[in-house]
Amino acid sequence: MGLKRPPSLGAGLVAVQAVDFGWVALNYAGLERAEIQPGYSALSSIHLAHMPYTHSLPAALIWSVAGALIYRLIDRRGGWGPALVIGALVFSHWLLDFLVHQPDLLLFPGGPMVGLGWWTNAPLGIAAEMAVLLGGFLIYAFSTRARSAAGNWAPWALLALLVGVQCLNWFGPTPPDIWAMLPQALAAYTLIAAAGFWLDRVREPKTITATG
Ligand SMILES: [Zn+2]
Repeated sequence: MGLKRPPSLGAGLVAVQAVDFGWVALNYAGLERAEIQPGYSALSSIHLAHMPYTHSLPAALIWSVAGALIYRLIDRRGGWGPALVIGALVFSHWLLDFLVHQPDLLLFPGGPMVGLGWWTNAPLGIAAEMAVLLGGFLIYAFSTRARSAAGNWAPWALLALLVGVQCLNWFGPTPPDIWAMLPQALAAYTLIAAAGFWLDRVREPKTITATG
């Protein structure tokens, strides 16, 4: 079972962060607005004051369709399967944000703001985020194999990076304002995606045969 050619990990890490890359760009463009509110949630001080183009449900669906189409154009080897996985990964961001955010995610234009607020409960938020992180890590580690010596330790380096960024996010100092936060966020998203593309070079899916 499974896809003949799963999507690239680097592309997957861009996909799950796609609306957050968008959030950074649109805040700089003045089209969206997030603000730092110390103590907004136990685990996050970012309030999404006005983010309809990246963090509303309709926007997330549009980003997901766009993500699938773009991946289909870029990586033609695997057909629609991996492209649909990429689309689902883009959308998973909104679903997971819905679990942890306070109600600041727009359900539909003119509709209510939603969010279950798990970030207001630190143990629950930390357990949920670690479960998703470790679950994803295990799926990746068991469905790929090393192509080189670096491929043996590369997943551990990525795991350390992800846990490190996560801990900084939870326990690090609160940025004074959103303009101090945006470059840090962009650097973290980019570093994580770059690490994924590096892993794509040193590991390969187990479903790919020697001739594939
Ligand atoms: Zn987000």
